[in-house]
Amino acid sequence: MKKKILEIKDLYVEYITEDGIVHAVNGLNLELEKGQTLGLVGETGAGKTTTVLSIMKLLPEQIGRITKGTILLDGNNITDLRETEMQKLRGNAVSMIFQDPMTSLNPVLSVGDQIAEVLELHQAELGKKRIDERVDEILDMVGLQKERKVEYPHQFSGGMKQRIVIAMALACEPKLLLADEPTTALDVTIQAQVLEMMNRLKDTFSTSMMLITHDLGVVAQTCDSVAIMYAGRVIEQGTLKDIYTAGRHHPYTIGLFNSIPDLTKDTKRLSPIKGLMPDPINLPNGCAFHPRCPECLDVCRYEMPEESCYGTHKIRCHLYK
Ligand code: SF4
Repeated sequence: MKKKILEIKDLYVEYITEDGIVHAVNGLNLELEKGQTLGLVGETGAGKTTTVLSIMKLLPEQIGRITKGTILLDGNNITDLRETEMQKLRGNAVSMIFQDPMTSLNPVLSVGDQIAEVLELHQAELGKKRIDERVDEILDMVGLQKERKVEYPHQFSGGMKQRIVIAMALACEPKLLLADEPTTALDVTIQAQVLEMMNRLKDTFSTSMMLITHDLGVVAQTCDSVAIMYAGRVIEQGTLKDIYTAGRHHPYTIGLFNSIPDLTKDTKRLSPIKGLMPDPINLPNGCAFHPRCPECLDVCRYEMPEESCYGTHKIRCHLYK
C-alpha cells in the first residue's frame, strides 16, 4: 500500500462574520498518496480554497478557524502547530501556488531576489554563491533565461509570472504542492504549457500535488484521482477512471459533466445545474444539494447521506445506500 502524503480527517472550518458563522468546510475527508496528483473540483464557494488555506494554516486571522478534525502531513499531525513551527514547513515541506500571479509576487523585488529569499529562509546552509547558482538553475527549469533574474515582475507576461511563482513554490523541493487554480488567469495555450511544466517538475522532484480547479478538462489531463466538493464536503471521489467512466455518479457530478460542451455533439444549449450553491451561513438540512437535485427523495430533505464505497470509488448520496 502506498504511503499517504496528506490525510484530512473530519475537518470543520468556519469563518465568523458580522452576518453569522460561515460553515465553509463541514466534515471533510481526503487522502493523497505520495507522488500522486489529486484534483479538487467544485463550484465557487464549495470550500476548496478554505481547505488548502487550512492545510497551510493561512486562514484569515481572527475570523477563520478550524473547529474540528485533523490534518496529517506525511504522517505528522500539523493541525495544532504554532505559527513558528508552520513557518518552517511552509515553502519547505508544503508550498502553495495562488490563483493570481500578479498578487503573489512582490512588485518591488527582482524575481531573482524573490526566489533566493525562499532558499535563504529554508536552506541558508547552502551559502550565498550556491543560492545564486540555484536561482539560475530553477529559472532554467521553468523555461526562463537566468539573465532575467534582475528584472521585476511587471517586466514579465502573465504566463511568465506564473512560471516564476511555480519556481518559488518548488525551490525547496516540497513534499506537497497545493495549486489553487494556477492557470485560471492564463489563456488556453499558456495554460497548457504551464500545466505540462508543472507535471514535469512534480515528477522531477517527486512532489505530490493537490490541484484545485473547476475545469474538468484540466483534471483529466493532470490528475490521478479526483474529489468533487459541494458545500464544504466531498460528495464523490475516486480515481480518474472512477470519475470519468464509472456507471454511477452523484447527481451533482452528473450536473457538472452536463455543463461541459461536447465537441462530438451538435448541442444548441448546455444544461447547467439549476439554482445556486446554498448560503454557507444557513445550510439546508439533510443533503446540502437537495434544493437543486433532480433526483431528490423525501429522506434527502432531513437526513445527511452516508458515503457508499465501490472499491476506490466513493459517493455520498441516498440513491446509493
Ligand atoms: Fe440528490 Fe438525495 Fe443524492 Fe442529495 S442525497 S444528491 S438530494 S438524491
